[in-house]
Amino acid sequence: MITNRAREYAADLAAADKGLPAFVYDLGALDEHAAAIRQALTVPGAPEIFYAAKANPDAPILRTLAPHVDGIEVASGGELEHVRRTLPEARIAFGGPGKTLDELKLALDLNVERIHVESPHELTRLATLARSYDRQVDIMLRVNLAGDRTGVALAMSGPFGMDPDTIEECRAILADSPQLRLRGIHAHLASGLDADAMVTQSREILDWARPWLDKAEVTNPEFNLGGGMAVDYADPNHRFDWQSYARQVATLGLPGETLRIEPGRAVSVYAGWYVTEVLDVKKAHGQWYAVLRGGTMHLRTPVTKQHDHPFTVIPQNGTGPSVTDEPVTLVGQLCTPKDVFARQVPTQHLAEGDIVTFAMSGAYGWNISHHDFLMHPKPGHHYLNDEES
Ligand SMILES: *Cc1c(COP(=O)(O)O)cnc(C)c1O
Repeated sequence: MITNRAREYAADLAAADKGLPAFVYDLGALDEHAAAIRQALTVPGAPEIFYAAKANPDAPILRTLAPHVDGIEVASGGELEHVRRTLPEARIAFGGPGKTLDELKLALDLNVERIHVESPHELTRLATLARSYDRQVDIMLRVNLAGDRTGVALAMSGPFGMDPDTIEECRAILADSPQLRLRGIHAHLASGLDADAMVTQSREILDWARPWLDKAEVTNPEFNLGGGMAVDYADPNHRFDWQSYARQVATLGLPGETLRIEPGRAVSVYAGWYVTEVLDVKKAHGQWYAVLRGGTMHLRTPVTKQHDHPFTVIPQNGTGPSVTDEPVTLVGQLCTPKDVFARQVPTQHLAEGDIVTFAMSGAYGWNISHHDFLMHPKPGHHYLNDEES
């Protein structure tokens, strides 16, 4: 659950004064993982891959991924500027609800390749703006299909994209807006799908979008099938089957069509560890607790997902309080009962001073966390094998 390189580095950090807590990213492991995904997607007809920056937009992560992806998907003006600065040549798709006029301007100024339009109002606003630019603007319309999403980790119900009735309003707006060139349909419907479920969903999107685009007379249509490829926090070794997905989805496309996906979590989650140490071990109301330095204000993932975050202990043979052969709940330093990384996990031995490394912290970890709550020191961020540092 931790690479040798990251493990050695974690031990060095623990030995250094004030080295913990810290995020350790193994860019070598990320490079290998991304190369394997890319390899799976070399099947003829397989989708292009745009990495969803919101999963982890750190510059060393983006630089490591760049050779293995076709582009980057951004969901705000902030991400857009950051990605353009970090990877000046990258192809960029810009999506997300509630784009402001300034963000749309930025998208045009920074030559975003595809803007994913989320509502008829946004389309009108973009059309008006595009009139003052002396070129065509390539867009995709984002659709949100009803469908049955039972069993997924997160269904994108809510204000994301347009339902099939609302998207009809776009036809008239487009007919009036020669600067806007409709290239295809974008759909990101759910997160947490395994390969077979993802193929089924991809087929659903294609079946709906093809006739829609046909009626709009779009030639060589594009279909962005979204992200949401499953990861398994209960079993970090159980990974999304990219080969199976690529092989199956490649058979769905027709000549002249371009398929595209935009995964985030399944790409970067395995490359990061939140490394910390046990400050105290104690029993309260019959249950054992290990109090760790830091907390979920650094790694909010287990709170948002309400799961036990996977971890590995690196024993340090301390002489402080310890627990043997008991279930232990791992908590942080926050004064709230919600500050829990993992609950009642059967544990051989855990002692004060032991190092704890939380795996699968490379996506939706630090960047979704409420860092300032309680004003504890910020963790370090270490990128192993970063060629630029
Ligand atoms: C968040 C998001 C993604 C990435 O989702 P993952 O679950 O990280 O793969 C892709 N597309 C859109 C539109 C998103 O909002």
